Parts: sequence; structure tokens; C-alpha cells
Amino acid sequence: MERTPLLAGNWKMFTTVAEATELARAIAAKPLPAGRQAMLAPSAPALHAVGNILRDTGIILASQNICWEEKGAFTGELSPLMLEEAGATMAIIGHSERRQIFAESNSLINKRLLGALKFGITPILCIGETLTERESNDTKSILEKQLRQGLAGAKIKTGNQLTIAYEPVWAIGTGQTASAAQAQDVHAFCRLLLADIFDKAIAQQIRILYGGSVNPANIDELMAQTDVDGALVGGAALKAESFLRIIHFETL
Ligand code: PEP
Repeated sequence: MERTPLLAGNWKMFTTVAEATELARAIAAKPLPAGRQAMLAPSAPALHAVGNILRDTGIILASQNICWEEKGAFTGELSPLMLEEAGATMAIIGHSERRQIFAESNSLINKRLLGALKFGITPILCIGETLTERESNDTKSILEKQLRQGLAGAKIKTGNQLTIAYEPVWAIGTGQTASAAQAQDVHAFCRLLLADIFDKAIAQQIRILYGGSVNPANIDELMAQTDVDGALVGGAALKAESFLRIIHFETL
């Protein structure tokens, strides 16, 4: 089963609108390699400006979060309709920073995910274990809980409607990447779970990205793993040169 590789940049709460615009222009200046997709998730204030630059480039615009309601008294939240208006077609949901710093639970994340699906925005559901959980051999049970609870009630017809990002918390922003073998092991496990949650055919279509200190030096080996279908990149997506090298990873 061929899954189109997706190289996704999460700019977190970095870049002014002017910097975001400049960065998006530099990334969009180089044509995408055939058979690959790229995505940028700027901060909310920069969505419209970056969306204008990405239009007709083939690069996907994403938000870093999403609310389940289109409007209302939800101070600080991001309406799916407003995201659509800016041109966003994907949304990062359940990033470990949302889970850890803003105490987002699996059930809140599930509401966001169902909301995104309802409005036709493709969720990138982030899951990942902490170092303590890995060291106490709880990685797989934690990931299973995050996947089953995060996806509860989700109805999809094809795997293109959903993306998963496996991001071990101990690898995010630390410079410590999971080895390619560790990533492959977890991704294969997640695909089995997805087959149980949906069905085998859909599980084969769903892209599972790896995230956690991905950089130009480790992307080629990560992308050589059978079940690694792309990367969600933080720090290395903030420089055009390094993110472009990631998009243009070499096939080993
Ligand atoms: C992320 O923000 O999802 C991430 C993986 O960050 P970094 O690449 O900096 O570890």
C-alpha cells in the first residue's frame, strides 16, 4: 500500500506574522518533489497571511488546534469555519504541549477530533508517551488509550480523512530522537490498533507521522521505515533550509 509521505512543520508559538510570511515564501519557493506532500502549521494570527502565500503551491495549511463548535462563547478557541476561511484543511490535535501544559484530556481531544471531522478538516491526532511511561514499560498501553479514547466515535470512510502523529514526549524539542527501529516498532503497533478501531484497509491508508527532534540528519533513516509515513517537525521547520532538506529527504 502506497501512502504519500507528508512532511509537516509545526511552528508552535514562534514567528511574528512578518517572519512567518518570509519563512512560508522561502519554503514555497522550491517546488515539492513528486509524490510528496508538505504542510505548515503557523500560529493562529499568521494563518491568513501564510494561507495566501500557500495558495496554489500544493503546500497544505494547518492550524495547531481546533474547536468543535463553529461559533459561540469559546474565548481563545479556533472555529473550524474560521480556519477553513483562512485556507486550513488540516488541524493538529492533542499535541503533547496541549496535553501537558494546558491539561487537555483524551476526552477533550476526542471532541476536537470529532469536530474537525464534522467540518471536513483532517485531524492530525498526536499521541506519545513520557520518559517515565517508557521506562516503566507503559508505552503501548498509554498509546492504546490515547488512540482508542481520542478516536472514540470517529467515522471515516477512507484513511485520507485522518493522520496520526507518534511523538514521544521525551523526544520533543530535546534533540533526542527515537531510533528508527523504535519508531517503526511503535508505528506498526499503532497500525494494528487502527485496524482494530476501523478496519485493515483503512489502517493501511492512514498516515502515521513520526515527531520528536526530526532534523536533516535523521530524516532519511526515519523515512526508510515501512510504517513511518512522514514527519511532524518543530524546531527544524523554523528554518527554510532545514525544512526543505526534510521535505527533500533521500530514499535509502
Ligand atoms: C513538535 O512540535 O511536534 C516537535 C516534534 O518538535 P521538535 O521537532 O522540535 O522536537
